[in-house]
Amino acid sequence: MSVHNRNVKGEQLLEAAVMDTKFAFFEGKIVPIEEAKVSVMTHAIHYGTAVFAGMRAYWNADEEQLFIFRSADHFARLKQSARLLLMDIPYTAQEFTHILVDLLRHENFRQDTYIRPLVYKSYLGVGVKINDLPNEFTIFAVPMQDYLSHSDATQACFSTWRRVDDTMIPPRGKIAGAYVNSALAKSEALMNGFDEAIVLNQDGHVSEGSAANFGIVRQGVVITPPRTANVLEGITLRTVATLLHEQMGVEMIEHEIDRSEVYNADEAFFCGTGVQIAAVTSVDHRPIGTGKMGPVVGELRRLYDATVRGKLPQYRDWVQPVYTEESMKA
Ligand code: PMP
Repeated sequence: MSVHNRNVKGEQLLEAAVMDTKFAFFEGKIVPIEEAKVSVMTHAIHYGTAVFAGMRAYWNADEEQLFIFRSADHFARLKQSARLLLMDIPYTAQEFTHILVDLLRHENFRQDTYIRPLVYKSYLGVGVKINDLPNEFTIFAVPMQDYLSHSDATQACFSTWRRVDDTMIPPRGKIAGAYVNSALAKSEALMNGFDEAIVLNQDGHVSEGSAANFGIVRQGVVITPPRTANVLEGITLRTVATLLHEQMGVEMIEHEIDRSEVYNADEAFFCGTGVQIAAVTSVDHRPIGTGKMGPVVGELRRLYDATVRGKLPQYRDWVQPVYTEESMKA
């Protein structure tokens, strides 16, 4: 690791993957990553007043192509998140995709990549209001394979933390400050030897993982918490719903989930852009179903991987190629 990745106290500042990041879109143009810096006075740092997206681009070795997954859908949700904090993004969905394509071409990534667009209150000064303040928009990308180390055998626990409520910080938006809630749940799980946390609502029903949606399979039906259960309305979950319906003929319903239903489920999973689809094989040390990845989640993982790499023609509209002339005109 280079010396630049440590501060004067020797603390690690950058993880290895981030060292491969050379550019950012920052204040309206692509700049070297070293130039994409904000002041310590920035409103967003002090109050968590930023919203972000988490996207992926997938490498397809057969086509030698990098595909951005569901760019327009991520942009639509980013805009909605921004609205919650009274911010606007001065781009259309098409312009946003062009910027992404341009950034990824600069990076010349030929591997799976995670993309992080961020809209933040750029006001310099003190004061907690969010109305009538300037905001900025930035994007960077890092190479990323699996986010969870055991995505085919994830060991989860119920968190002692509860999910933030829509009356506090709306989980429907990807609001930076609300991720303190996710961070507390995630680190508690990791420090107790688990891979991931399942977080309950104030009323004791399941909401989601620290940064992923959650679902179970019982008697052949997939059940996920309702969209009013203080969850992020996940784009991966929407993809899962389509694949279950169109490719697998499996019914998916939204319904409140009790803790004991999870213990008695046949299968369980997390899904999200980062975790992709992870099979949960134990919860609180109790095996889920057989204690091994089950058939529904196994098939979903296979279909999802093919979909995001542009290998299923019927879902080709969801993927945006980076390395073509047309991608700059699209
Ligand atoms: N819930 C939370 C809290 C998340 O951070 C994420 C990741 N963005 C998800 C769910 C899954 O959302 P998506 O499938 O759109 O990535």
